[in-house]
Amino acid sequence: MKAAFVTGGSRGIGRAIIARFKAAGWRVAACARSMERLDRSPADVKVACDVTDPRSVRDAITAVVRELGAVDVLVNSAGLAGSNPLDTDDDTLWHRVIDVNLNGTYYVTKYAYPHIRDGGRIVNIGSILSLKGVADQTAYTAAKHGVLGFTRAFARHAAVRRVTVNVVCPGWVRTDMARSRWADLDLDEERAAAEAPLGRIVEPEEVASLVYFLASDEAAAITGQAFTIDGGVLA
Ligand code: NAP
Repeated sequence: MKAAFVTGGSRGIGRAIIARFKAAGWRVAACARSMERLDRSPADVKVACDVTDPRSVRDAITAVVRELGAVDVLVNSAGLAGSNPLDTDDDTLWHRVIDVNLNGTYYVTKYAYPHIRDGGRIVNIGSILSLKGVADQTAYTAAKHGVLGFTRAFARHAAVRRVTVNVVCPGWVRTDMARSRWADLDLDEERAAAEAPLGRIVEPEEVASLVYFLASDEAAAITGQAFTIDGGVLA
């Protein structure tokens, strides 16, 4: 039976990815900081982990490998969005957003890679802000561009073991993260949807289907690439 490890698996996109792999008969391990929410996820193995803390990441991966053995697929979905004001001496938000999105992806990938089977997959969840900038989100934009750069470099590193590394770049997806951003931006779902030529936001299950395709045998020749799923925002 194939095995996947999904970070940020307690909610939103990560949770939908777990459900997609489970529906196809995979064994799935998941992590998030809060066990309370993670316990309600459909994953087989659930571990508390803060992806910004390398020791926590190493411990989580040890626990996952103890339960599942080597994994076929790693999905880095843990993330944090938010505006980081520039008119202040307090750089906490800048560092936090870079830490969760970019350093978290780095730590989990670095420590999980030795436990990914030859021919396996790494799928990172970037954003359309891996490909364009937004004025109030310099940290998130920088972090998600960093995830794309890391994806390209790691794809070359991992090619020797036929492990593919790609990044999925969503626009608005119906999750807690998007709802919280809409509240910050004084947007509602209707106005957020109107930003896309298709006039709709993306469902977490649609992102999960794209991730599942990239994990499939059909995608074995695809590596180092970014796949946008945004209702046409970047068209
Ligand atoms: P979400 O609903 O806020 O869920 C985030 C998940 O990440 C939760 O499971 C959360 O669990 C976990 N997480 C957060 N910080 C963590 C940390 N330090 N260590 C471990 N886990 C952590 O977000 P989402 O919308 O599903 O987003 C998933 C990914 O898609 C993110 O990378 C996000 O940047 C990207 N994305 C989302 C959208 C969107 O519109 N929703 C658009 C583009 C890209 P805990 O809080 O318990 O740790």
